Amino acid sequence: MKRVLSVTSECVPLIKTGGLADVAGALPAALRDHGWDMRTLLPAYRGLIAKTKAKKTVWSSDDLFGGPAKVFMAKVDGAEMLLLDAPHLYDRAGGPYGDGVDFVDNAERFAALSWVAAEIAQNGLTDGWTPQVLHAHDWQAGLAPAYLRFANSDVKTVMTVHNIAFQGVTPAHKLDDLKLPHDAFHPDILEYWGQVSTLKAGLVTADAITTVSPTYAEELMRPDFGMGLDGVIAARSGDLSGILNGIDDAAWDPDTDPAIVSYSAKKLTGKKKNRAALCKEFGLKGVKGPLAIVVSRLSHQKGLDLLIEAADEFVAKGGGLAILGSGDPWLEGQLQALATRNPGKVGLRIGYDEALSHRMFGGGDAVLVPSRFEPCGLTQLYGLRYGTVPVVAATGGLADTVINANAVAQAAKVSTGIVFQGIDRLGLSRALDKLIALYSDQKGWTAMQKRGMTQDLGWGASSAKYAELYEAL
Ligand code: ADP
Repeated sequence: MKRVLSVTSECVPLIKTGGLADVAGALPAALRDHGWDMRTLLPAYRGLIAKTKAKKTVWSSDDLFGGPAKVFMAKVDGAEMLLLDAPHLYDRAGGPYGDGVDFVDNAERFAALSWVAAEIAQNGLTDGWTPQVLHAHDWQAGLAPAYLRFANSDVKTVMTVHNIAFQGVTPAHKLDDLKLPHDAFHPDILEYWGQVSTLKAGLVTADAITTVSPTYAEELMRPDFGMGLDGVIAARSGDLSGILNGIDDAAWDPDTDPAIVSYSAKKLTGKKKNRAALCKEFGLKGVKGPLAIVVSRLSHQKGLDLLIEAADEFVAKGGGLAILGSGDPWLEGQLQALATRNPGKVGLRIGYDEALSHRMFGGGDAVLVPSRFEPCGLTQLYGLRYGTVPVVAATGGLADTVINANAVAQAAKVSTGIVFQGIDRLGLSRALDKLIALYSDQKGWTAMQKRGMTQDLGWGASSAKYAELYEAL
């Protein structure tokens, strides 16, 4: 087997705040089919060593950024996880990045992760395993390719951008703390508007760059999406590719999902029962039109402020809404107000609840994703798989994975959802009107559900592309 080290701050099933964790968790099994042995380096956040029962030490240091550190190896769902245990950096209450506010030493915490990745890439683990390729995910791992470049290593590197909004920007006075050479502090490598960006460092020094959909790859080179790094990425357009995320199609299968009454494209009757149960769970009554769901982080990116403006009209026209999310307190408050003024029609759960999200995909008629930008997006894919028709903004991976029900696509019987241009209140309102209209034609609706459900959304095609890329390097 060929060997690749994946470096990430989140990985399912151990720690997750977003789609990065799903991708990092799915890649090892998918790549094994292509002859690649992937090991995943992840910080041992509080409780993870106990949870994985990890015992075997494969790397150690007396002083990693101010304290002792060890890498423990543990098999999790068949994949080798390398847990970086450095209590002074990772043994804390709260999430991976903070406990309400970001930890002040996040730059050091993830530089340490990247440093250990680069050490393993150069010198291997004590069991003799040495990677041929290092695959860094997002800003948290951005310094790994950079450390390797500074050490003149010939290990090949891939930098994947899951979301350009997070850039790992940190003050320049930390150069020494982060073990970065002063002569690399210039605009061609580390420097970013007077500070250091660890994502930029990765983008400049990695051998190849990928992002999580072809459309987002194009968007990243434009000033309106690149968030300041568009020029850096455009300069490397020849090394950039967009590889769509897949879904874990064992965990997300309405036929076998233990959280719901089972159904399939051949037999959709179970979905009606799930819908009734979901309405009950959210206190919704007499929803005659489409029951739309939202499962999302509550942030500006996700465009839910547009939904808050458009929802009353949607409800007045017969629609219902079940929303699950957490994040921005302002959005939480506005959504709460929306639910309060639409009793029985809009239900809201604030929080993060994986099992509930399955019940929502099982029972919803449509899933709404009005994101202002969306590198790939997973919930529209779950929607396709569950016959929960996606209504999405025309951006990034949303545009790449949903076929809009326009006149041509309807006539050709290829549509799988609604894709709206103009990511604003009007655009979303028109999409919701269209949703109501399409739903009222139950025969056409069922056909559209079935087309989505029978699409191949797994990792097969995309993992082959990653394998090809590693191979090419
Ligand atoms: P992002 O990574 O930007 O948050 P994605 O759509 O790529 O967006 O991935 C989000 C993942 O997190 C999906 O698997 C989605 O189902 C899940 N998710 C988001 N919010 C919640 C929530 N409140 N409860 C349960 N799952 C959630």
